[in-house]
Amino acid sequence: ADEPYDVVVIGGGPGGYVAAIKAAQLGLRTACVEKRGSLGGTCLNVGCIPSKAMLNNSHLYHQAQHDFKKRGIEVGEVSLNLPTMLAAKDSSVTGLTKGVEFLFKQNGVTYVKGTASFASPTEISVTLNEDNSKTTLTTKNTIIATGSEVTPFPGGAVPDIDEKVIISSTGALSLEKVPEKMVVIGGGVIGLELGSVWSRLGAEVTVVEFLGGIGGAGIDEEVAKNFQKLLQKQGLKFKLNTKVVGGERVQGANGDAVAVKVEAAKGGKEEEINADVVLVAIGRRPYTQGLNLEAIGVEVDNKGRIVIDDQFNTSVKGIKCIGDVTFGPMLAHKAEEEGIAAVEYIKSGHGHVNYAAIPSVVYTHPEVAWVGKTEQDLKKEGVKYNVGKFNFTANSRAKTNVDTEGFVKILAEKETDRILGVHIIGPNAGEMIAEGVLAMEYGASSEDVARTTHAHPTLSEAFKEACMAASSKPIHS
Ligand code: FAD
Ligand code: NAD
Repeated sequence: ADEPYDVVVIGGGPGGYVAAIKAAQLGLRTACVEKRGSLGGTCLNVGCIPSKAMLNNSHLYHQAQHDFKKRGIEVGEVSLNLPTMLAAKDSSVTGLTKGVEFLFKQNGVTYVKGTASFASPTEISVTLNEDNSKTTLTTKNTIIATGSEVTPFPGGAVPDIDEKVIISSTGALSLEKVPEKMVVIGGGVIGLELGSVWSRLGAEVTVVEFLGGIGGAGIDEEVAKNFQKLLQKQGLKFKLNTKVVGGERVQGANGDAVAVKVEAAKGGKEEEINADVVLVAIGRRPYTQGLNLEAIGVEVDNKGRIVIDDQFNTSVKGIKCIGDVTFGPMLAHKAEEEGIAAVEYIKSGHGHVNYAAIPSVVYTHPEVAWVGKTEQDLKKEGVKYNVGKFNFTANSRAKTNVDTEGFVKILAEKETDRILGVHIIGPNAGEMIAEGVLAMEYGASSEDVARTTHAHPTLSEAFKEACMAASSKPIHS
């Protein structure tokens, strides 16, 4: 029989493929099993990457329509070629997924195209995509990185997702035409990003959110309120504190449509909103189907998450777990960090992920990004803090670019000035947040950043001035 692998990784998403490459780099004999037919998981195939392609190009389209003229750029009539925009997105996806396959070859990772299932804690049975035949991989260590799937609307009150009329994020990345009216159930990250895409391309978008604010878990309330105002200005409509109670397929003026029934979250009068397309974006859930976890005794909690300890060990020796399928925020970069740390534990017994400094970014325009504690967290914890805030209207580069919406907000501990949280809404917030993450990793005070030279004229000076505002006074406001 073949030598056992040192590591078999199940799932080739950002958690799994990064773990596999790292393991091979550390000299471990490594295989990665992926059933999708391409590497990169949810993120590269139907998540981060295609959504960012659509966000970028729909933003350019919107700018060409509404903003170019003011800047002295006359382009005549601007029109949308949706098939070309979708093809551009697909080609970004293919380029990157093939790139990961190349990295596997370069690093000597064995890529097994098929569906994995545990035959025992050290034997993984794989049904191969190619011909449905079975093969068994024996291994010393396994890392489960099977990710997540969309949470369907509960209780069957809304018809099942068909990816045409009732869609998940996956369908929302490939609609063949721009719907006239779209209802988004859930005002979290997916709802806002993909709602923005179709709104910019011409749909009338209504977001129905159960809670009193948008942006999902972990967003600072002040940021969330500003964010909502800016999106409303762009044409998105919001129904907050509202729950969807049902939906019915109907024939609309443009063919198949849905009558979505909503009512106040606390209960009240029912109201109907008609839509050509309904996007269900109420969260994602861990995916463990077919792994045969029960048979080998891997513990799963009541939310379907695989239970792990602080070294990524499941309840079964030799089996670790990372990414969306276990605890923590469902983010690609979180899965990647865990992938590396899990492999380092296998190799050397030491690994590390700093969960206090994992950034979140919403890639709308303006972008929203944050890391660390929110004001509401600090109040709840009774921590005394200073707020340093700087508006992009006072930043020379934002003014030059005529892109001045938003602000940088720094939360620093009152006693020590240590930065505890950074919240940005504004142009390029997603890139700028890296400075906040780095500052927090190094335990910086707001004064440390305020005394660091930032190039002029850049948006990053707003970050510096927010730090000046937290520790002394900014110059430009
Ligand atoms: P996944 O990426 O889900 O990968 C798991 C892989 O395992 C899948 O490819 C699956 O086919 C495979 N698999 C499952 N079971 C088996 C089996 N039994 N055998 C073999 N293979 C199996 N995150 C960000 O950080 N930034 C973003 O901008 C962002 N945008 C997103 C946009 C959308 C529309 C969506 C849906 C998600 C987005 N996310 C984003 C979240 C991000 O995609 C996930 O957090 C990330 O993909 C999780 O990585 P993972 O490796 O844990 O799992
Ligand atoms: P989410 O958890 O961010 O948001 C879901 C929202 O739906 C919440 O605000 C919730 O209150 C609301 N909701 C739940 N049930 C509802 C109901 N019945 N009626 C109305 N509202 C309801 O989930 P998501 O937006 O689906 O995203 C899933 C995951 O994908 C998230 O964990 C996110 O981190 C990840 N993701 C990340 C990015 C990014 O990093 N830019 C982009 C897309 C997705």
